[in-house]
Amino acid sequence: MNPIPNAWTFGDTRIYITITSGLVEMMDNEELDAIIAHECGHIICRHVLYHSIARYILSGADSLGVLGTLAVPIQYAILYWYRKSELSCDRCSSIITSPEIVSRAMARLAGGPKELTKDINMQEWALQADKYDEIRTDGLWNKTLQLYVTMGLDHPFNAVRVREILKWGESAQYLNLKENLKSETSGKKCNNCGRSVSPDWTFCKYCGNKLR
Ligand SMILES: [Zn+2]
Ligand SMILES: [Zn+2]
Repeated sequence: MNPIPNAWTFGDTRIYITITSGLVEMMDNEELDAIIAHECGHIICRHVLYHSIARYILSGADSLGVLGTLAVPIQYAILYWYRKSELSCDRCSSIITSPEIVSRAMARLAGGPKELTKDINMQEWALQADKYDEIRTDGLWNKTLQLYVTMGLDHPFNAVRVREILKWGESAQYLNLKENLKSETSGKKCNNCGRSVSPDWTFCKYCGNKLR
């Protein structure tokens, strides 16, 4: 029970996903699927132990005194990895749902109720991330400010996440994975090699066996 919308995955041998009541209240079923698939992504990519260690280092550094100061570069390196791990799990989530649903969940997390977020133009929103990239080459001072703002974050900005997931949703890698998932879930198997095949294949792509 927590009114703040949030979800996280923790643990090592006994991994658990926590979803706050605030998040369940706020999201529709598809968006909740996207959130849960994202968290399952952390499990399947084996991020959870590292996330737990990262949390430990990040919260423990203050109590270490001088040693804590020595841990600062490590903290930033961990946070950098942490932000990238979020993008990987947005990809996992989009395989189970779709890049559009993942973007919608992002919009809800950033903007709250549907009355506010339902008309957001995702492509326009993603353009904010391009503007944000331009700052990188827009003089040393802006670049320094941007680095200063992002280096302490554990998640990338939502606009960046939306741009990345929409872009990946158009890639051959995404379409291939979706296609493979379709064959995995079709229940149809090649009677020569036993691997999962798509219902619309004439030949098994693994062993060349004629399927129909
Ligand atoms: Zn995450
Ligand atoms: Zn086969």
